[in-house]
Amino acid sequence: MNETPPAGGRTAVPLPSWKFNKRDAALCAAVVLCALLLGWRLWLAPPIGDTVVVSHDGVVIARLPLNTDAVYVVEGAYENVVRVEDGKAFIESATCPGQDCVHQGAISKTGSSIVCLPNRVSIRIEGGSADVIIG
Ligand SMILES: [Zn+2]
Repeated sequence: MNETPPAGGRTAVPLPSWKFNKRDAALCAAVVLCALLLGWRLWLAPPIGDTVVVSHDGVVIARLPLNTDAVYVVEGAYENVVRVEDGKAFIESATCPGQDCVHQGAISKTGSSIVCLPNRVSIRIEGGSADVIIG
């Protein structure tokens, strides 16, 4: 008897061992792709930034390294005291009404920001390599 499988190819051919076929490969690729995308998002979304960008009236007025403790005073209609400490940035004190900016707490992750509406000041964390923020 000849062992050659039928030429039509439709009949089940006994497989010597389990093999990837095209569908398995596609499924596998899809799963890996999903995992990569998810991982990429997770990886990109919460990185610790490295620069504190201080803007006033939409204009960047200071860029402070997040790993160096510093105090930066923003003067405008009101005054905001921006403090960088232990890799975090926050508004230590302000003369604006409401003090919302002070209450917003400390930020350290890329894309996080604190806004002082009355003084039109915002401080934002930027990362060196992860500048693209996913909305
Ligand atoms: Zn404020």
